Amino acid sequence: MVEKLRIYNSLTNKKEVFEPLEPPFVGMYVCGPTVYSDVHLGNMRTFMSFDVVYRYLKYLGYKVRYVRNITDVGHLENDADEGEDKISKKARLEHLEPMEIVQKYTNGFHDLTKIFNMLPPNIEPSATGHIVEQIEMTQALVDKGLAYETNGSVYFDVAKYNKGHNYGKLSGRNIEDMMESGRALTSQDEKRNTIDFALWKNASPEHIMRWNSPWGVGFPGWHLECSVMGTKYLGKTFDIHGGGLDLQFPHHECEIAQSVGTYGHDPVRYWMHTNMLTMNGQKMSKSLGNSFLPDELFTGNHPLLEEPYSPMTAKFFMLQSHYSSTLDFSNEALKASRKGYKKMINGLRLIKQMEFVAEQGAERDEKTIEQIEKIIQACHSAMNDDFNTALTIGQLFNLLKKINSLHTGQLSFGSIGKETFEKIKSTYIDFVEDVLALKEENPSDYKEMVEAMVAIYKEAKFRKDFERVDKIRAGLKANGIIVKDMKTGIDWAYEE
Ligand code: AMP
Ligand code: ZN
Repeated sequence: MVEKLRIYNSLTNKKEVFEPLEPPFVGMYVCGPTVYSDVHLGNMRTFMSFDVVYRYLKYLGYKVRYVRNITDVGHLENDADEGEDKISKKARLEHLEPMEIVQKYTNGFHDLTKIFNMLPPNIEPSATGHIVEQIEMTQALVDKGLAYETNGSVYFDVAKYNKGHNYGKLSGRNIEDMMESGRALTSQDEKRNTIDFALWKNASPEHIMRWNSPWGVGFPGWHLECSVMGTKYLGKTFDIHGGGLDLQFPHHECEIAQSVGTYGHDPVRYWMHTNMLTMNGQKMSKSLGNSFLPDELFTGNHPLLEEPYSPMTAKFFMLQSHYSSTLDFSNEALKASRKGYKKMINGLRLIKQMEFVAEQGAERDEKTIEQIEKIIQACHSAMNDDFNTALTIGQLFNLLKKINSLHTGQLSFGSIGKETFEKIKSTYIDFVEDVLALKEENPSDYKEMVEAMVAIYKEAKFRKDFERVDKIRAGLKANGIIVKDMKTGIDWAYEE
């Protein structure tokens, strides 16, 4: 029996059976990038993890509405609502329109999602496209007495909210501790408490991104956009909300406070947080200067890279860990992932071209069939266990052993029967291509060229022209292709 999908909910700190609010529909919101610079490999880990979540929910038959926003205003340089708006600052430094910055980095992000074989979300709303709704939500919180205005800025009154609710329940923080550890307020401070956060910020005369509001000219606070867009497209309560672990506090904690303050109930049923890609144990981050751009990885053009690594190698590397564990980048790990990826893709090529061969009078091997059934179930169980891609890959390799045995003739088609064979085939293909979304990187004409060389190899072998046979074999090997002479015939594979 395969268990139901269970998701680790950061709100309850428990793995819970996933029961959508209105099956088969699932609403899923993921905080998207702040488009003021190129996304780095760490950011891509988070987005890739949610791509797998989205894909697997679809694989299970759910009708998912996946919303991933673009943050194009309001994200200040510092979480304490201080510093410049990241996009405004870049626009000022580069003498560009803020929307040119936004477009440039949104395009770059979209290119990367395609390179990593990710699906686009169903809706990709932006913060600047929802200013009216953000003003409305701010007004609603002011009307309820949960927000106050100072000098044209509006702040959420955390202490007041906490009287009736629990600020800190997502991140497990205690409001008294937060108030004590925060810096002391000065007379210049606009906030009543340092833990209060901005819903609307007054724009200084030089601030480029600005809109009219009941409180004067300004721009929205960062946390507000996600509450507004999540509600607008998925409803006041929706199923899944995700983002990187570093967004749990303050971003997601503030989102909960805004929605609970406005609507009186929790906005999200399952909160999911992905863990960080690290570099020597430290979070990969642009501000720490230890981040890679995916492009640097693909070209190998970075002092810390020993060689280039392909997009699918990087993706395999990410999938080999569970999304909730930290993952440390290293050349060794990437090299091992390249081998793993090639092995998986060799299996994909193989099973796709394999057809069931009926064998007269073959005897069924019930023990092997049962063993195969167990592996197939384990693939599902691994994904159902909070999207454990690492375990899934392990089970797919177990399935691949059976595929290879069929290929070499060690295991006969007759002994497992057509039904089991078709199950092996569909499980392997679906999990590799649709769920993990790993694909062969070489274009089809490359493969055609390899096929042509292998045909010449076969013909030379038939003619016993061993000099030519050796030459072709060596030539292909130099290009990462291994020719396999088996009793079932001649085939090729990528060198692992
Ligand atoms: P940002 O553009 O800074 O808002 O980040 C976009 C997403 O990437 C957020 O969900 C972050 O939590 C996530 N993120 C940032 N750094 C890392 C990292 N080193 N590893 C994994 N995810 C990250
Ligand atoms: Zn967000």
